Amino acid sequence: MEQQKKLQILKDMININSTNGHEEQVANYLQKLLAEYNIKAEKVQYDKDRASLVSEVGADNGPVLAFSGHMDVVDAGDVSKWTFPPFEATESDGKIYGRGATDMKSGLAAMVIAMIELHEEKMKLNGKIKLLATVGEEVGELGAEQLTTKGYADDLDGLIIGEPSGHRIVYAHKGSINYTVKSTGKNAHSSMPEFGVNAIDNLLLFYNEVEKYTKSVQTTNEILGDFIHNVTVISGGNQVNSIPEKAKLQGNIRSIPEVDNETVKQNLVKIINELNKKENVKLELIFDYDKLPVFSDKNSELVKIAKNVAKDIIKEEIPLLGISGTTDAAEFTKAKQAFPIIIFGPGNETPHQVDENVSIDNYLEMVDVYKRIAVDFLNK
Ligand SMILES: [Zn+2]
Repeated sequence: MEQQKKLQILKDMININSTNGHEEQVANYLQKLLAEYNIKAEKVQYDKDRASLVSEVGADNGPVLAFSGHMDVVDAGDVSKWTFPPFEATESDGKIYGRGATDMKSGLAAMVIAMIELHEEKMKLNGKIKLLATVGEEVGELGAEQLTTKGYADDLDGLIIGEPSGHRIVYAHKGSINYTVKSTGKNAHSSMPEFGVNAIDNLLLFYNEVEKYTKSVQTTNEILGDFIHNVTVISGGNQVNSIPEKAKLQGNIRSIPEVDNETVKQNLVKIINELNKKENVKLELIFDYDKLPVFSDKNSELVKIAKNVAKDIIKEEIPLLGISGTTDAAEFTKAKQAFPIIIFGPGNETPHQVDENVSIDNYLEMVDVYKRIAVDFLNK
């Protein structure tokens, strides 16, 4: 494929405003692009105007390597602060500017182009590449969750997430749990509290217990660091001379493989159940978000291949590392069989920022990197 066309594809994708939704327009664009090269792609509807996209190239027997990227982007923020309009991709000093340039339309475009080129070159593959382009990554990894539930990740032998890592390969990240606790009491005049039940007092019973529990978890992962818990939102009551009837808090946990999400959730449920045995305590616990930590083998074949290919093409020793933030891998890792995962994609430190951009060289080199990783992995 001509270099100019590769740049145009990325620009076209940036120009589709897929801020927290409307991913179907990106899916339609990619489906049409793949069809130009006689590659079929299936849309998996998530909601109105929202669809993930699944496509394959290669042979039906043999291993399956997935290329995955999300099609949604975050809000552009204050548009007046952008040098170039966020949804009119602009080329300037060797970079392409626009929302999603780094996070992560460049990674997704590079993956799709790699598939097209391998298909066009009639490269013999002893297995297949499976594209998993997702919706709603930024707001809860919704598409990855749906695709995993529907079994689309059950046949994978390896997964590359094209999130921006620059010249680094990520093989581990923390998990994340969000929860809400609602406390229900009974209103009364604050001069006669004996007629009411103070929802704030009862909520604080939970706060104290959860702090005690989470501080007792003294485990650290050598790569990812500490298990982290924070109560981040709290509210309750509505008038200074009334005993509050309602109070609520929200907490966030950053989990590590040593303390798995299930254990943490069970402990929170236990705290709530114990407190609810007390007179007048009525607490309700809701898990809003449950993403697993990802900790792939750093000596896996996929990591070794990626490192070698990157060194060869980029001409740099590419370091391996772990990160705090979660990705779609937190959902895909719930698939039936375990498989190695790496996060490796073009991009820099500008995701979610004004003037988000990607270096054209980095974008183009990753097309070749993805192609070679796929060939080496499938034909090993
Ligand atoms: Zn992203």
